[in-house]
Amino acid sequence: MPTRREVLKTTVLALGGMALGLSACSETKKSASNSSKTNQSQTMTHTLPELPYAPTALEPHISAKTFEFHYGKHHKAYVDNLNKLIAGTDLENKTLEEVVAASAKDASKVGIFNNAAQVWNHTFYWNSMKPNGGGEPTGKLMDKIKEDFGDFGKFKEEFKNAGVTQFGSGWAWLVLEGGKLKVTKTPNADMPLVHGQTPLLTMDVWEHAYYIDYQNRRPDYAQTFIDKLINWEFVAKNFEMAMK
Ligand code: FE
Repeated sequence: MPTRREVLKTTVLALGGMALGLSACSETKKSASNSSKTNQSQTMTHTLPELPYAPTALEPHISAKTFEFHYGKHHKAYVDNLNKLIAGTDLENKTLEEVVAASAKDASKVGIFNNAAQVWNHTFYWNSMKPNGGGEPTGKLMDKIKEDFGDFGKFKEEFKNAGVTQFGSGWAWLVLEGGKLKVTKTPNADMPLVHGQTPLLTMDVWEHAYYIDYQNRRPDYAQTFIDKLINWEFVAKNFEMAMK
């Protein structure tokens, strides 16, 4: 019988390649001359992935100013902190998903988990949106939404409610678990991958995601995200890969 940790690791690793190459790492080889002990050892430096669109592309719904801070400062800080925290540890050469799996549920690695998960979550979030997004999904994804939520309106209601009712900082998600679509919410850096769920869509509901544009009106931000920003093609690709 595999341990819970082994199951978790397998789940995360299996999902590692999903969602359009979310893991942004650059490998650098240390030359043998740099170290007499580690010949040709490799280190993985996590990098801030490029945005899938220009920082102005989601205006007026999400401003370039929000991207300046949310992507340029917050997301970048998670990447920088992660690299500092894993430097010189056995996690230094791991992929982002491997770091998430290895640090989840380990109290001694909570700082590493928080930063690694936030790097992953934010990249997933940028890809969950697109200019002129929103509308409705089509095909098998829409059929599955209708099957599991009753109708598309019910899904939108549940997703908005998850985002609005997440107390404090966190995330709203559409996930696939046990062959069923579900809406969930997680606090802080927590994420579905470490709970055996496959994430298909996320909405950041930390205040830094909406405060510049919406101040305290989180429900307005959530409604706009649903109506104008969701990248349903991205969700459909994740769904298709998860169902294989
Ligand atoms: Fe955020």
